[in-house]
Amino acid sequence: MPHGAQHTPPPLWLQDALQELREENPRELFEATVGYRVIDQNTLQSVKLDSLSASAVLPPGYKAQYLPRIRCFDCQGRLYFAGPEHTVDNFQVHVENRLHRANLQKRTV
Ligand SMILES: [Zn+2]
Repeated sequence: MPHGAQHTPPPLWLQDALQELREENPRELFEATVGYRVIDQNTLQSVKLDSLSASAVLPPGYKAQYLPRIRCFDCQGRLYFAGPEHTVDNFQVHVENRLHRANLQKRTV
């Protein structure tokens, strides 16, 4: 992972939205996180990070993207996309999902 990437904090709107969700669902365990990927702008494909040197500046034509994500601890730390836009509606759907509820049940029994 290129230098500095791992220190990018999740965006504030995501932290705020999750804080609200946490207050509504105090038993839930999740956290805001940021995924990182590099796009080759010629092909629009993502580039394997291990093909890039850790300290190097990105080669021309490559663009870094930070993707807000939400980690669900009850579902083996799986990552879910935030959104749409600056909301956590997608994740809210996940929280109401039957599988997720079953996992939560296992932990809180
Ligand atoms: Zn879950």
